[in-house]
Amino acid sequence: MARLTSKQKDWLKKEFDQRVTFDKTERRLYSHDTAAIPGIIHPFIGSTIPDAIVQPESEQEIARLAAWANENNMPLTPRGKASSGHGGAIPTKKGIVVDFWRMREIIHTDSDSLKVTVQPGITWEKLQKELMKQKLDLRLYPTSAPSSSVGGWLAQGGAGIGSYAYGYFRENVIRARVVLPDGAIKEFSGDDLDLIADAEGTTGFITQVTLKIKKLENIAVSALAFPDARKLQEAIERLWTKMNYPSGRLFLSTRKWLSLKTGLL
Ligand SMILES: Cc1cc2nc3c(=O)[nH]c(=O)nc-3n(C[C@H](O)[C@H](O)[C@H](O)COP(=O)(O)OP(=O)(O)OC[C@H]3O[C@@H](n4cnc5c(N)ncnc54)[C@H](O)[C@@H]3O)c2cc1C
Repeated sequence: MARLTSKQKDWLKKEFDQRVTFDKTERRLYSHDTAAIPGIIHPFIGSTIPDAIVQPESEQEIARLAAWANENNMPLTPRGKASSGHGGAIPTKKGIVVDFWRMREIIHTDSDSLKVTVQPGITWEKLQKELMKQKLDLRLYPTSAPSSSVGGWLAQGGAGIGSYAYGYFRENVIRARVVLPDGAIKEFSGDDLDLIADAEGTTGFITQVTLKIKKLENIAVSALAFPDARKLQEAIERLWTKMNYPSGRLFLSTRKWLSLKTGLL
């Protein structure tokens, strides 16, 4: 807790009130993500316990924080649900962790042009549940849907359930608003999205994401078993031709296999 002066702590308390913590136990909780830092790497990065954690409620708050941190040479680390396990949400330079938990609203749903605008901290599961109430659905989502955020997936990058049909998440994003390190607010769209997608939050804080969605469809989930890899390959080729874009596949190898008869095999 060496870095923050009392003047800096006062500024954070004034700005965030009950939404900033300097508590040692809480700071320790934010020193790691879902995975443990490998022992071989730990000596190189040392302590990753941040000096404070804030939970902003608005883009304007983040903009003021970024401008203040810039003036005070204070490291900031964005954090969604910390499910990536790659260390991006770990405050290796200490400073302040910016937890997006409170920014989890759906801002606007457009069922005609099939897009939704959300705050970054909403989980995929929550967003999908809300869309389904309007007979809409996500095009794709990570398998960590119950515990990962929309902003986190844009910053981390990846593919998930639905990607066979819709590609990487980046390809399904229409635009995003971002608070840059100097506190300026910028909207990114088209090729400019490459500056924030997969960038691990290094180019700024994603505060709003507009993404493509689809109409709710009936989904068939099937479990199939095959005696060998060749039969599996043949089945996949036929599935691909007949069904045109199954939304996802999961392969499990097991000694005991269960045979389900389908018209496709
Ligand atoms: C069980 C499990 C299943 C998974 N399945 C998949 C999968 O199917 N596909 C896949 O691609 N990944 C998967 N992952 C990895 C991970 O869940 C995803 O990358 C997820 O989208 C990360 O979201 P998060 O909210 O947890 O982000 P975090 O882990 O909190 O952050 C990830 C990175 O983004 C940055 N960041 C977070 N929020 C913001 C923001 N608002 N603005 C700027 N930067 C930000 C962080 O600093 C960090 O660098 C899985 C992980 C687990 C544990």
